Amino acid sequence: MAVALKGSIIRTIKSMVVATVVLGVLSTARAESNFLTLGTGGFTGVYYPAGGSICRLVNNQRQHHGIRCSVQSTGGSVDNLQQVRSGELDMGIAQADWLAHAYRGSDRFKASGADQQLRTLFSLYPEYFTVVTRADSGITKLDQLKGKRVSVGKVGSGQRATLEVLMRLKGWTMDDFSQAMEVNPADQASALCAGKIDVMIYTLGHPNGATKEVTHGCNSRIVEIDDAAVAKMVRDYPYYRWAIIPAGMYPGNERPIRTLGVMATFFSNDQLNEERAYQMVKAVFEQAESFRRLHPAFDALVLQQMVKGPFSAPLHPGAKRYFVEQGLIAP
Ligand code: GLU
Repeated sequence: MAVALKGSIIRTIKSMVVATVVLGVLSTARAESNFLTLGTGGFTGVYYPAGGSICRLVNNQRQHHGIRCSVQSTGGSVDNLQQVRSGELDMGIAQADWLAHAYRGSDRFKASGADQQLRTLFSLYPEYFTVVTRADSGITKLDQLKGKRVSVGKVGSGQRATLEVLMRLKGWTMDDFSQAMEVNPADQASALCAGKIDVMIYTLGHPNGATKEVTHGCNSRIVEIDDAAVAKMVRDYPYYRWAIIPAGMYPGNERPIRTLGVMATFFSNDQLNEERAYQMVKAVFEQAESFRRLHPAFDALVLQQMVKGPFSAPLHPGAKRYFVEQGLIAP
């Protein structure tokens, strides 16, 4: 009996060793492969077209570098950070706040610990904490979300994580809403217009498909989030800022709207080798004009801003090489 048990333990350990070696070989093979996968977000957000645009510009120059870039739709920032860590994705887009937490192993990433292999490739565009309600809901400020049916976002999304930071500062729990619902980002607009929820929350660039869908789909408007808790976030953390959603982008949005802002950042980890990172960044920056034309939220992309820190994770050496070569940053 004891011998049989020992035998089976040894067999288990042996198979674990084999599995570890196989996994190790696989992840090395993955890092060396020319097929690179970029994690984005939901179909009506901006990460998805942003990732698609980056891949398109990279693939345009495939003859030159051999990289095949493809995108994957995901739950957003937190998912992308976790999947780059586990090696399921090579690169991703994330809000600067969650990139910082993943790098340091804080907040949502406390249990998994610091991921110091994370690297910034470049910053993209500002994202806005966007709260939308039907025009007849009577909600005009953050405090009025209490007692309402709120779509708080999926656990892997940046909006859910950032909402929880804001809620902690306000001393709220999910019980402060009459219902806290985890609606898919792409289904929020129809849920709001159908009266299934009172509030949808999405942190993303503007203009975007989700806000267009909801403001064209029913009489709805974006709520100003001019709150002391946001002021505190902006004061205390380098990655938060006040941001203004410009007037006139959507029906019912005649005035500029103040809310919390954070940068969307394109990142990888140090498994992406220097040459590949260099080639990818070069492809995007050389075709910046086309990049701007691929989505209206990219209108505001300015190369000087995209290379400017402070970054939430160190700049990838391949990206840095290109930026220095181009005189965009000091060596
Ligand atoms: N900022 C959102 C997130 O991190 C995604 C926004 C988008 O898909 O454009 O989950």
